[in-house]
Amino acid sequence: MPTVSQVWFILLNDSRAHEMTILLQLLQLLPDEPFSPHCGAGPTGLILAITLALNGVHARVIERDTARKIGQRGAGIHPRSLEMHHFLGTASDILSSSSQIPQMAAYPIGGNVPIKTMDMLSDAAEPSDAFPTTRAVMLGQEKQVEVLTAHLLKLGGVVERGIELVSFEQSSEHVFAVLKRSGDEEVTEERAIFDYLVGTDGAHSQTRKQLGLSFLGETRKAQQMIIGDVYLRGSLTHDQPLWRIWGDMSSSFLALRPVVETPGLFFLFIGGPEASQSILSDHEELVCYLRRTSGRPDLDCDKPTWLSPYTPNVRMVDSFRKDRVFVAGDAAHVHSPAGGQGSNSGAQDAFNLGWKLALVVKGLARPPLLDSYNAERLPVIAEMLQLTSALHDKTFKAGLDDQAWKRGSHLDQLGVNYRGTPFVLDEIEGRPPSTSNCYDSRPSGVLMAGDRAPDASSLIPSRGVLTGDRLFDIFNATRHTILVFTRQESDPQASLVVQLLKAYPSGLFKSVAVLPSDSTTSLDVGFDLVVKDGQGNGYAAYKIPSDSTVIVVVRPDGVIGAMLTNCDGLHRYLDIISF
Ligand SMILES: Cc1cc2nc3c(=O)[nH]c(=O)nc-3n(C[C@H](O)[C@H](O)[C@H](O)COP(=O)(O)OP(=O)(O)OC[C@H]3O[C@@H](n4cnc5c(N)ncnc54)[C@H](O)[C@@H]3O)c2cc1C
Repeated sequence: MPTVSQVWFILLNDSRAHEMTILLQLLQLLPDEPFSPHCGAGPTGLILAITLALNGVHARVIERDTARKIGQRGAGIHPRSLEMHHFLGTASDILSSSSQIPQMAAYPIGGNVPIKTMDMLSDAAEPSDAFPTTRAVMLGQEKQVEVLTAHLLKLGGVVERGIELVSFEQSSEHVFAVLKRSGDEEVTEERAIFDYLVGTDGAHSQTRKQLGLSFLGETRKAQQMIIGDVYLRGSLTHDQPLWRIWGDMSSSFLALRPVVETPGLFFLFIGGPEASQSILSDHEELVCYLRRTSGRPDLDCDKPTWLSPYTPNVRMVDSFRKDRVFVAGDAAHVHSPAGGQGSNSGAQDAFNLGWKLALVVKGLARPPLLDSYNAERLPVIAEMLQLTSALHDKTFKAGLDDQAWKRGSHLDQLGVNYRGTPFVLDEIEGRPPSTSNCYDSRPSGVLMAGDRAPDASSLIPSRGVLTGDRLFDIFNATRHTILVFTRQESDPQASLVVQLLKAYPSGLFKSVAVLPSDSTTSLDVGFDLVVKDGQGNGYAAYKIPSDSTVIVVVRPDGVIGAMLTNCDGLHRYLDIISF
């Protein structure tokens, strides 16, 4: 039995204008089935598709390539992305295949002993109760895409390969897309109609171009590089998990990282004026370059599994949205790979947009909620471009500066925040302190609406079911969690919150009362869950003042939507996000 959206698709697969008019009228008679597509099944598109699927919206995922892309590319997965994978249910598969970030080891030409070794994560914070994951891991983008595609499949989704978005137009109600399907023998054109379109179609995004979004910035042509994956033969083995480097970008530079998930494979990075682009097409030249730059005459390699030119670009859009069409990931921003922020930022774009889009297409929130996507992500990405450009300049300058290879703790993205943006509400701290920075909330010393919602362990359920003992076991990518921290035996605000939430469709919220560990009240007013804060970790992480009731709204993307003192505030917040 086809779903309503599939029926639309079949009916509208005809381009004759008069039939289109009739069909559009037909369409309006059909029930409003949630349906929004996006194109591009890289990491950004897949995370968006999984977020939507978990939220009950099966988007159509269109991918131009007929086969999955080979290659390591964005292999570094930062702690905030790992937390996102936890909420999406993809963490265990990502972690079981991934490996530690290896130490960098700089070798002299021809030498077997490193001149120096550098730990890129030496500045990473120690894990704590509120921040349990503080170290990035590594998993090639190819494998990430494989894991995410398998998860999407389990959720009933599918990637439609060999279909390219060619063009689109939009009205106030719909997006009309022209798609090209490349079959074995023929190329056919499809016309399809959607509620929304999200371009997750990478750096050369057709969506961005057609929207006419500016993509201002710079292309660093003088710093052309070559990246790829090769099986090496000779004295370099996988035995030592070292990211070996030789030379620097003033003449010739070579970096080889063992790909732990694929025995024998190395990720290759070549740069500097002596690295001729003819390496791309001439295998002999590649082998010569490897031997010359490393000073190891025994080095040899098979034909690379992939090899690509790479020119650093630093660019971003002026808006992540035009009416019913959005861009996310590399379609919206490109930058230096230094710091490994690209794929991680695309993932956070998708995670930010996914729950909002799901609520709107299901008719559970009004469209203004979608404005928050641009308001929240644009400043973060602008800051990220500055950070990665500065890091790029340090990393790829002449000489070997070990400071340049250090990755500050802010790159873990745990401090990325949306403080002071129009769709979060803080009635406790008020305005963000002047020291606030949208890439790192931690130095300001306060916790505010817009920040990552901290974890806390040792929760003891006194009413309702809790699997696990952490706040991260309660937060969920498909609903808002309303935490009411209260010490009072019969707190009128607690009752009001429960009453208010009852007026909304079930499943939108989970109400959780968090009581101090010594509390004797059972707070029997109808919360979905009542927990005691066994070790006081929750009260400490959320900086709850003594003798106050604090309501914390945690969004499906694990961000604090609101910090409030009473139920009127909750009313205001729900109004702001257009419920
Ligand atoms: C050397 C290097 C190292 C990097 N290291 C890191 C790192 O450690 N960590 C990190 O976070 N990032 C890193 N990055 C960046 C990362 O690779 C990108 O940010 C990431 O690939 C972006 O994912 P995406 O899904 O937005 O786009 P893409 O991965 O480019 O996916 C876009 C998809 O859209 C498809 N498509 C394009 N046009 C159309 C169309 N018209 N119709 C249908 N489909 C279409 C494409 O075929 C593609 O599959 C690195 C990049 C490089 C080059």
